[in-house]
Amino acid sequence: MTRASGIEPAPLRPGIPFVVSGPSGAGKTSILRHVLERDPSVLFSVSHTTREPRPGEQDGKDYFFVDDKRFRALIDEGAFLEWASYQEHLYGTSREAVAGPTREGFDLILEVEVQGARQLRERSPGAVFVFLIPPSLEVLEHRLRGRGSDGEAVIQKRLERAREELREIHGYRYVVVNAEIDQAVRDFLHIIAASRLERERVLPLWKDRMDFG
Ligand code: 5GP
Repeated sequence: MTRASGIEPAPLRPGIPFVVSGPSGAGKTSILRHVLERDPSVLFSVSHTTREPRPGEQDGKDYFFVDDKRFRALIDEGAFLEWASYQEHLYGTSREAVAGPTREGFDLILEVEVQGARQLRERSPGAVFVFLIPPSLEVLEHRLRGRGSDGEAVIQKRLERAREELREIHGYRYVVVNAEIDQAVRDFLHIIAASRLERERVLPLWKDRMDFG
């Protein structure tokens, strides 16, 4: 596509934080992985956690894996934009993980559970909140068992927690139902595309060149 001559490139807009929650087993990780592959201007916010790495997970890529003492020290330093305790482990998004990329214009995915999302609702006013759900609780249970990485007690706890988390859905702007992964990925990409076109994000970039009255 050609650009009319003399037109300058679009000014840089701050990146959009996409806050994504949903019960464990809803398929967040795989959907988000596909979204990130499809759109290189979207980055993944790497959280800190005190839980052990699962097979294949890399420090600094999936999470920053830290011990309890280090996590507590980071809390005391005020390093976290939000943090929460989930299934006996601590999880948190550092201020640095969000500020740097969004300042540079990268959109950012923050995968956080519902308590963290609540904190972000107050502290990250431009964020877009997306809730990801499985098509049913039966499907969720099936997926949790299929993972094979967790014992029965953990699965039961995750199911119980999933029911609790579903009650928080009202605080989210968008809902993606993961009945079929390709469709869920497409839905997510549409949410990103639409969010980039929201008036409040577009107008500040163009108001110097246009008379909007
Ligand atoms: P998992 O241990 O399965 O990777 O994650 C457990 C839960 O913690 C998931 O719901 C995930 O979204 C959430 N989580 C991951 N990172 C963060 C974070 O930085 N903050 C909060 N509040 N939750 C997180």
